[in-house]
Amino acid sequence: MSPLQDTYRHQGQRRALARELRRRGIHDERVLQAIATVPRHLFFAPAFEAHAYQDKAFPIGEGQTISQPYTVAYQTQLLNLKPTDRVLEVGTGSGYQCAVLLQLTPHVDSIEFNEVLFTRTRQLLASLGAGGAGLYCGDGSVGLPDRAPFDAILVTAGAPGLPPALLRQLRVGGRLVIPVGGSQTQRMVRVTREGAEAFVREEFEDFRFVPLLGVGGWRS
Ligand code: SAM
Repeated sequence: MSPLQDTYRHQGQRRALARELRRRGIHDERVLQAIATVPRHLFFAPAFEAHAYQDKAFPIGEGQTISQPYTVAYQTQLLNLKPTDRVLEVGTGSGYQCAVLLQLTPHVDSIEFNEVLFTRTRQLLASLGAGGAGLYCGDGSVGLPDRAPFDAILVTAGAPGLPPALLRQLRVGGRLVIPVGGSQTQRMVRVTREGAEAFVREEFEDFRFVPLLGVGGWRS
């Protein structure tokens, strides 16, 4: 079988995964539809494909992981995306979350710190026909000042606090969704910019992420 093949069996597994996420409380139909659409198994090495439709994180090399589908859906739902929104994802990793975001808006930028993952994922997304995102290699904890402002910023690694550069790069009305906490667990936080200097912070469930590195993360 070609490594890029998507079969009826995969499609059925995706629909079952979307149903499982609905049972767990994901209610945004567009997010559930995106989960049911994006072929997650194609973001796995062929030998590990059997793990793709379990609701679990999985290693992708370089000490990093593809996030659990529940986490991807949860963060995406918190972003409240409109089709015209401009989004920045910090932590491209496997590219799966990026592909999910592209189902909701065509205006996605994503930045990855690790050069090996960046190069691999750029090729993969292009081969999947999901090359519409702007992909960057660098320290996303300082955002992408040249591309700002954003309507939504999604951080897919755990931060010790709110990176000031990411707050500055939000448009008024924009949302930053970021896991914040210590090395063991992080609380999902959404910060909405309500004015030039006005930010509203909401806290949600606890998760466990790999660390956000860089100037606004755990080390520079
Ligand atoms: N969104 C990814 C996916 O769908 O596969 C999950 C990524 S993994 C949980 C977190 C990613 O954040 C890793 O690939 C890691 O290299 C990256 N990362 C950590 N610190 C970063 C930083 N300062 N800037 C950009 N990427 C960073």
